[in-house]
Amino acid sequence: MTSQGTRDRLVWRLREHGIEDERVLKAIATTPRHEFVDEALSSRAYEDTALPIGLGQTISQPWVVAKMTEAVLDGGKPEKVLEVGTGSGYQAAILACLVPKVFTVERIEELLKLARRRFHKLGLHNIYTRYADGHLGWPSQAPFDAIIVTAAATHVPTELIEQLRVGGVLVAPVERGGMQRLLAIRRTEEGVDERDLGGVIFVPMLSGLT
Ligand code: SAH
Repeated sequence: MTSQGTRDRLVWRLREHGIEDERVLKAIATTPRHEFVDEALSSRAYEDTALPIGLGQTISQPWVVAKMTEAVLDGGKPEKVLEVGTGSGYQAAILACLVPKVFTVERIEELLKLARRRFHKLGLHNIYTRYADGHLGWPSQAPFDAIIVTAAATHVPTELIEQLRVGGVLVAPVERGGMQRLLAIRRTEEGVDERDLGGVIFVPMLSGLT
């Protein structure tokens, strides 16, 4: 149930659904998603669906993880990426296969502790974690080449755009007209360039710590 074969089938499915970046597909093929969910759900870990991780949160659907990671890698070789919403740690683990340094911020301490344990177990030493409200980003580590937000914001978080270097991209689900749209927002010399990558469903981005 958790073998290479089941992971390869997931990759095949993602390919069929339009994921093209071979680097992303390889990261998904080599990352054990079953390590990021409760043991009782491990037989479902390679289905292309979001799954509960406790405390009302979910591990994102693999297709969404792949799509967001493609957008992060688009047009460059990012060195430093910030993720807001560590959750299970799976998205950070995928990024860690592809970029030298991953910074990830989570507001629920219990989830962050579990994620840190997983990073340690899998030997992912290029992930730096922080217990904080991600609305504020990680100012002391800025600027980032890319920022990925894995919870839905009510508006484009401008505080985070300020922590992007010029040419960098922010990938985030944002509420628009009662729906969530996945946006890729590139910071330019003049302002920003926005691309809509489609409709998505994420848990909401909340304020404060718990
Ligand atoms: N990237 C995660 C997805 C987790 S779901 C994964 O791969 O599993 C979204 C996560 O965002 C939740 O863990 C939630 O607690 C967190 N979150 C929501 N608002 C946040 C905020 N303001 N700052 C940091 N994390 C936040």
